[in-house]
Amino acid sequence: MPAKVDMDKIVSLCKRRGLIFPSSEIYGGLASCWDYGPMGVELKRNVRDAWWKSIVHERDDVVGLDTSIMMHPGVWAASGHIDSFTDPLVECKSCHLRWRADAIEGKGCPKCGGELTEPRMFNLMFKTSMGPVEEEASTIYLRPETAQGIFVNFDNVITTSRKKLPLGIAQIGKSFRNEITTGNFIFRTREFEHMELEYFVKPGTDEEWLDYWVKERFDWYVKLGVRKENLRLRQHGKDELAHYARDCYDIEYLFPMGWSELEGIANRGDFDLIQHAKCSGKELSYYDNEAGEKYVPYVIEPSAGVDRSVLAFLIDAYDEEEIEGEKRTVLHLHRSLAPIKVAVLPLSRNEKLTPLAKEVFNKLCPNFVTDYDDSQSIGRRYRRQDEIGTPFCVTIDFESLEDKQVTIRERDSLAQIRVPVEELDKILAAKLRGEAFDASPLWATREK
Ligand SMILES: [Zn+2]
Repeated sequence: MPAKVDMDKIVSLCKRRGLIFPSSEIYGGLASCWDYGPMGVELKRNVRDAWWKSIVHERDDVVGLDTSIMMHPGVWAASGHIDSFTDPLVECKSCHLRWRADAIEGKGCPKCGGELTEPRMFNLMFKTSMGPVEEEASTIYLRPETAQGIFVNFDNVITTSRKKLPLGIAQIGKSFRNEITTGNFIFRTREFEHMELEYFVKPGTDEEWLDYWVKERFDWYVKLGVRKENLRLRQHGKDELAHYARDCYDIEYLFPMGWSELEGIANRGDFDLIQHAKCSGKELSYYDNEAGEKYVPYVIEPSAGVDRSVLAFLIDAYDEEEIEGEKRTVLHLHRSLAPIKVAVLPLSRNEKLTPLAKEVFNKLCPNFVTDYDDSQSIGRRYRRQDEIGTPFCVTIDFESLEDKQVTIRERDSLAQIRVPVEELDKILAAKLRGEAFDASPLWATREK
């Protein structure tokens, strides 16, 4: 097993190749905030799409939802976030740094050894006000999870979707947590993107469904390229369960800083629906036609972070190899996650090659995310595509002008096949679906 890459190399690659930049960098940056660049925005969208496809589109028992970030403040009173979504905070009396009391060892300040204040509970929700006149405006919160938008729409979805339980409602969107300590690149940030599923089930079947979703979610990461040996499951102890949870598993990943949570899968029981029914005065239950009974469903919640998943996929894809005495850095990203699927590279910037190369690009770009690059040497352009994980490069050379064939180079094996321009999009589509690279029947058409 290759040694774990250190985080600095990932951060540096992300900066160099336009994946992720520090936020507001020209002003010196803003702590724990990051911006996704031209390659990063594609990678992040692909992670989201892969989740949505597996959770919503490939099943008939889950529907999607997109709710607002700002919600009625009553939501957070009912959910327990105003009272219980807190961390114990201590402050150093000498250097005034703040720490999470449960995350430090010993009695003194980890930075300077100074004396610490008594812990006080610090609420992690960001507060703001809504309305034009500040004094009269009401205090509202930026959501710390997308889940509550799902719970308060439970009745709307049940009555309009005409689906039976078990039924899942999925949502992807930004969440905000004013964490006391952040860090490790995009691992823990105060603004992040959540991918959450609330899967409503009949009470009594909840434990089975928890096991089911733990397995489903674990397998999702493996299918998309995270190495199995870098994943493990950890069940929460009774003392660390969140205020709403009956049971919870973390899928942990071996990040460069050690094993850390990648995703939590919780059994929230009927806590949320009961609370919202009580506080809103609206009944939130389900009438089971087959059983002829009414009940408040239990809910299983797989809750993942887009950014954290991006980081894990990047780390396990990263590799430094030696090819014929030369070092190459490559991202072995799963083809569905790669920001660019195909790069069109004329052998050189040449007025004879450009028209055909442009023709090939124009033919491919409606179907695949395609990059066109004719600057610098072909070797440097291959290296650039390897570093952003592009699975296929298409090279147009002078022979192509004669025989109307081009060369496809595969990122991982570096194998090359020559194919007719006519057939190019069909062949690439098959390869991107996972067809073996050397199995192409068109290999036989290669003339050399
Ligand atoms: Zn200190």
